[in-house]
Amino acid sequence: IEELGRPAILTLDPYVPGKPIEEVEREFGITGVIKMASNENPLGPSPAVIEALKAAAPRVFNYPDSNCYYLKREMASFYSLSEDHFIFGNGADEIIKMIGEAFLNPGDEVIHAWPTFSEYIFASKLMGAKPCSVPVGENFKHDLKKIAERVGSNTKLIFICNPNNPTGTIISRQEMQEFFEKIPSDIVVVVDEAYYEYVTDPQCSSAVELVDKNRVIVLRTFSKIYGLAGLRIGCGIASPDLISLINRVREPFNVNLMAQEAAVAALKDQAHVSQSKELVIDGKVYLYGEFERLGLGYIPSETNFIFVDIKRDSKEVFTALLKEGVIVRTGDIFDRPNYIRVTVGTPEQNKRFIICLEKVH
Ligand code: PMP
Repeated sequence: IEELGRPAILTLDPYVPGKPIEEVEREFGITGVIKMASNENPLGPSPAVIEALKAAAPRVFNYPDSNCYYLKREMASFYSLSEDHFIFGNGADEIIKMIGEAFLNPGDEVIHAWPTFSEYIFASKLMGAKPCSVPVGENFKHDLKKIAERVGSNTKLIFICNPNNPTGTIISRQEMQEFFEKIPSDIVVVVDEAYYEYVTDPQCSSAVELVDKNRVIVLRTFSKIYGLAGLRIGCGIASPDLISLINRVREPFNVNLMAQEAAVAALKDQAHVSQSKELVIDGKVYLYGEFERLGLGYIPSETNFIFVDIKRDSKEVFTALLKEGVIVRTGDIFDRPNYIRVTVGTPEQNKRFIICLEKVH
């Protein structure tokens, strides 16, 4: 294997996702397992999505539209940008990989905060580029000053996750503007806004407004608030020239037909988006109160998940929670072994999580 694999590939570890519900039910011989591990929307998709999927099902013998014409048109109107500002992928994950393929050469440096979403590291290593991590600063926030200072002659890409996974912290509009003034204009900055729809802090603004003035690629996904994680569809928003570069490495039919139909219907139902956001806002108020009652620490989150300092080994708590039928994420994958990351669920799920946590802690 060592002789067969490209050196860059041999530096990669296989991705370990949150455990699927069915796997936990099989493993522990239990039913009624709930997953609060992958930041999905517990309300599911808009009912309009289900209708769109039913209507589209007889057409699955056809290849999907390679150019996502209708979805592009909807997104262009939603964001008040032209259609050539958009590219779609089999999840935002695929777009991250395509960005690596389009921009990175062996030896290039890629800067990212730590802890953050691990796919930036994967995409960098895959291309033989060097991921350089800059630890988060005060209150677990991105240290943009240190990130700007880390930029060197080999730096090609910077990944910024706003709000950040797993910390739930945001970067303000002013901090972002100052950052762009500091870094050389030839560097491409990817701003991953997978959880942007959950943000309530008015100081935070989307980098979509920067795409025509800076080398910025904004990532959005239909997996989170839109509730389409199982269909795999995400989006890159950038200036038409950057989009045309990424488009060169795109597989012809990378976004399936059902995903395109579902995304159009999901985008049109903004009432469902607002309802999902409200559920999370209320859920966080409840969970924060319970964490305080239990004497646990947490980072106030602008997303639909919370990074909780459970003050003991999270792997033990994770396994004990699994046996109770509750799936969360352990903090060791983010080098914070005493933390868990929990997705905000329905009021019933949140309550059950707290009861189980109190029992096993
Ligand atoms: N970015 C971030 C920050 C994420 O947390 C995720 C999902 N885990 C993604 C991107 C990828 O989302 P998807 O591929 O489901 O669109």
